[in-house]
Amino acid sequence: MDNPANRVIFAAMTYDSDLLIIGGGLNGPLLALAAAQAGFTATVIDAADSATQRSDNFDGRSYALALASQQMLTALGLWDALAANAQPMLDIKVSDGRAGEGPSPFFLHFDHHEIEEGPMGFMVEDRYLRRTLLDAVTANPLIRHMTGARVVAQSCDMLRAEVTLASGQTVTGRLIIGCDGRTSGTASRAGITRTGWDYGQTALVCAIAHEKPHHGCAHQFFMPPGPLAILPLTGNRSSIVWSESHDQAAAINALSDADYLSVLRPRFGDFLGEISLAGARFTYPLSLSLASGLTADRLALVGDAAHGIHPIAGQGLNAGFRDIAALAEVMTDAARRGEDIASPMVLSRYAEWRRFDIASLAGATDTFNRLFSNDNALLRGLRDLGMGLVNAAPTLRRTFIREAAGLTGDLPRLLTGKPL
Ligand SMILES: Cc1cc2nc3c(=O)[nH]c(=O)nc-3n(C[C@H](O)[C@H](O)[C@H](O)COP(=O)(O)OP(=O)(O)OC[C@H]3O[C@@H](n4cnc5c(N)ncnc54)[C@H](O)[C@@H]3O)c2cc1C
Repeated sequence: MDNPANRVIFAAMTYDSDLLIIGGGLNGPLLALAAAQAGFTATVIDAADSATQRSDNFDGRSYALALASQQMLTALGLWDALAANAQPMLDIKVSDGRAGEGPSPFFLHFDHHEIEEGPMGFMVEDRYLRRTLLDAVTANPLIRHMTGARVVAQSCDMLRAEVTLASGQTVTGRLIIGCDGRTSGTASRAGITRTGWDYGQTALVCAIAHEKPHHGCAHQFFMPPGPLAILPLTGNRSSIVWSESHDQAAAINALSDADYLSVLRPRFGDFLGEISLAGARFTYPLSLSLASGLTADRLALVGDAAHGIHPIAGQGLNAGFRDIAALAEVMTDAARRGEDIASPMVLSRYAEWRRFDIASLAGATDTFNRLFSNDNALLRGLRDLGMGLVNAAPTLRRTFIREAAGLTGDLPRLLTGKPL
């Protein structure tokens, strides 16, 4: 921004805001807030209306936020509003399982005491995270929030980008950022293709109340049709992500609450005592959807618009946070040097930074799901052996814990808790 040549060019240009963020789910608002910390203005546009997004039953997911993601929320001044409703994740136990049989004797146990930084992460319910982000966006004078507004077209030239809404209204900016999820229209309009597949699984998701305390421990049981995750929430409650084949999930979801619980009980086990539903039930079909590139002319992709992955490792949103932290840092440093934040050179720094992490995460989650979602005796023996070996190797165990906490790799400043 301090480059005199750029100042002359950009002074002649008028924009509605620096950033045009298409998609105001979770990643779009967080990106606007991160960018605002560095002084960028943003317009966040979402097709859904605000009252719908703020309703308790809008989205039943709860997110395992890695410690690095929590540090980023702290650096952006958002954590204080979330802390009271966030459950620290102190242990993770992973094992094979079959309905009615309980967990196999071979398991992996990750204990947060093995790293100095603290809990591996925090469980946060969607309703709290979404409202916190939307409240912060509304309160921020650098952010304009347009709800109930669908983007139908976009274009750009040497100096600016423009999006057109279904109403015919146009909005201009320097850079378009697609945060519009795994079927991203922003990507397809820019000619960015996608690759991926349906996993043939649907996740049944809901909050469960239980008799006994969970002590902050998350469980992952690998059942033949797909994983069952039991993730600790505040109080004596846990969130379940229960994967079944599409047909089986549809049949289970059609059951009454009492019958739904009677199918769940032999899978869940009795280690937390009697269980009951603690909220509405939701379903999410599972697929992989990867964009072939992260950038185009005056355009970048963030979050599920760039990489929609299997939730087996609870990493999709954390990967979106990593996109945001990297992009916000690249833009901030470019602006401080006087560069155009949307130039191909600047955007390629973002793509380079994120490429490897995205590819390895997509590859790992895809492989784990294939390896674990079956009842093949040979594979079952091999994975039990693998888990036993990792569990007996403290250095390997610590590597996995640091990976789950998001503390590995070349971390952008926000993910280490530092401001931009
Ligand atoms: C069962 C399940 C459990 C999960 N658990 C975890 C977990 O524990 N930890 C974790 O890190 N991740 C988890 N994830 C992944 C996480 O939910 C996603 O990565 C995250 O929700 C993606 O957010 P997003 O903002 O990128 O996209 P989305 O939430 O898809 O938001 C896209 C937004 O774009 C808007 N939009 C689309 N098109 C337009 C348009 N043309 N004009 C205007 N607006 C538009 C939509 O209205 C929407 O609000 C889980 C996923 C699933 C399925």
